[in-house]
Amino acid sequence: MNNKAVALFSGGLDSMLAIKLMLEQGIKVHALNFLTVFCTCTSKGCMHQATKAAKDLGVPLKVMNITMEYMDIIKNPKHGRGRAMNPCIDCRIFTFKKAKSFMEDIGASFIITGEVLGQRPMSQRRNAIELIERRSGLEGLVVRPLSAKLFEPSLPEKQGIVDREKLVGIQGRQRETQIKLAEELGINEYPCPAGGCLLTDVGFSRKVKDLFEYIPDYNISDMHLLKIGRQFRISDKLKLFVGRDKSENERLLSFTQANDYIFDVVDIPSPIALARGRVGREEIKTISSILLRYSDAKSNGVQVAYRIFPSDNMQSIKVEPATEQTLSHLRI
Ligand code: SF4
Repeated sequence: MNNKAVALFSGGLDSMLAIKLMLEQGIKVHALNFLTVFCTCTSKGCMHQATKAAKDLGVPLKVMNITMEYMDIIKNPKHGRGRAMNPCIDCRIFTFKKAKSFMEDIGASFIITGEVLGQRPMSQRRNAIELIERRSGLEGLVVRPLSAKLFEPSLPEKQGIVDREKLVGIQGRQRETQIKLAEELGINEYPCPAGGCLLTDVGFSRKVKDLFEYIPDYNISDMHLLKIGRQFRISDKLKLFVGRDKSENERLLSFTQANDYIFDVVDIPSPIALARGRVGREEIKTISSILLRYSDAKSNGVQVAYRIFPSDNMQSIKVEPATEQTLSHLRI
């Protein structure tokens, strides 16, 4: 066993503190960040946050995009879910296994995490932490500098590679101790803990369920679209997205693929609508009426234009705005 370790690294305060406590002991740390479309740490994205934090700490960073592989875990978690679609225990086992394989690749000997006992209801209970460690094949090889004193010593601690006396024993959801420790360790810049994982959001989870149910051959574009706009299931074969602001309109357009339909109200400010799937005459009417409902049109019978991407050939239709009842019936 050597003094090289892989740190699971979100770029948040806890994982920064864990790394800093290890660096103070002369451990060589390589940070590992997992990227999925479900993470919402900052408006610029989690990778930006992790990159900046790793640079501040002076450690190398490996970023792994695991979105597609991760979808199978979300669909069929062996250890259940939290209050929404979040499969936290399976998610942790999956990322720990990835970390183990990276650890072996770079010749490191153990893993560091910023886990705090009892901080998260599902994955940071003692039983869950121990189960995750066992199932990922990392028994004895995980050092948790922030809660180490509350666990049996890990192998690196037993072998004296990590000095247990310099680790701490933080427990629970309060963050005062971490903030004080950050001051002591000279960590002055760190993100607020507002970001997180969209899979814990009940509304977002409905959209993920809809994806699994109706779009079994989903692609990465379908997954990015889950995060954009108001969403409606028009039929088993057709889904609609309506932008909520200029930035969402632009993002919708950026994920457009061949044969998607794009709708826009003629001569009146309105969002963009993107329809993906099988579109017939009736569906065009329904979509146009929904879009009209979110436009600035003050009168009924307004023209809505549409085209099939990537063609510029516009057609139009005159419709009445959808009723609230129709909207709530079709909304995902
Ligand atoms: S909250 Fe999301 S990212 Fe975190 S463990 Fe749960 S499923 Fe994984």
